[in-house]
Parts: sequence; structure tokens; C-alpha cells
Amino acid sequence: MKIIRSAKRKTLALQIKPREGLIVRVPVCATQEQVEKFINDHKDWIEKHLKAMEERQQEASSVDKLSMDEIRALADEALMLIPERVRHYAPLLGVKYGRITIRNQRSRWGSCSGKKNLNFNCLLMLTPPEVIDSVVVHELAHLKEMNHSERFYAEVLRVFPDYWKWQGWLKEHGKAIMARMTG
Ligand SMILES: [Zn+2]
Repeated sequence: MKIIRSAKRKTLALQIKPREGLIVRVPVCATQEQVEKFINDHKDWIEKHLKAMEERQQEASSVDKLSMDEIRALADEALMLIPERVRHYAPLLGVKYGRITIRNQRSRWGSCSGKKNLNFNCLLMLTPPEVIDSVVVHELAHLKEMNHSERFYAEVLRVFPDYWKWQGWLKEHGKAIMARMTG
């Protein structure tokens, strides 16, 4: 636990950081007693958040890296499935697309180029089908709107109303899946 006193601060606050752990931010004038009482009053919150952080760190450190064969197998699977999903959604959005490429990347789930070519990460095969659809729809919608404007998301949601639900899934689990990429 780290206690940081600051002159500008008027109230006590808690923070949990991956490296430092628990940080208590305290006004300069707060007494030791007040600080102790504050920590004590928030015991449950602290325990819960420290535990959640530990779990996240464990999940990240125990990643099971994919072998080259496994990556190839995922790419083959993606080549079978993703073009079919693109073919399904493109007419719903009213867009025409170029080539579809499956990549193994650690940074992006999908992208599209000015030439209307689409790229998808083979790691999508480790996510639920709805996540794959949400990424496919996102990239296809960019062929209409090359930005993340309200109009862009309106298009996305029109053809895939559960978009935010599955993007939420990806936000929660995506990092751990990306970490499995070798190289
Ligand atoms: Zn985008």
C-alpha cells in the first residue's frame, strides 16, 4: 500500500494500479486516524478490486502460446468461415468489397483498405461467432463510412443490433487471446 499526500486534494480516494497495488490519495491535512478509518471503511472494495486485479494478471501471465501449426489451422478455418460471413453481411449494408485476407496479428481484429480490401485476424476463430460477425460488420460498414462517426455506428447497429454486447466481450477477453499469438 502506498499513501500519497497532496496539497491540492480535498478528499480521500483509493486507486488500484497493476504495479503499485493499492494507492491511497490523501489531503495533506488528513490525520493518520482518518486515513486508517477510510481504509477500514473501504475494506471490502479494496479486497474485491485487489483480487480482481490479481486474477487479471494471472490470466495474462499464464498465456498459452499458439504453435505455428495451431495458427495455420486457425487461418484455414478463418478462410472457410469469414468470407462466408462477409458475403452474408455485404448486401445487407449495400457495399461491395475487394479481397479478403486472413492475417495473424497481435494488434488488430480487422481492418480495411482504401481499395476496399478486408483483413481479418485468424485469432477471431477463438472468439464466439457473434464476435466474428461484429468485426465483419464493423469493417464492412467502413466501406460506407471511413470513420467512427454516429452514422458509422448507426449502420453497424442497423444490421447487427447486438454489436455493443459482443464488442464488450472482445474488450474483456480480447487481450488474453491476442497474447496467445506467437512471434
Ligand atoms: Zn473501425
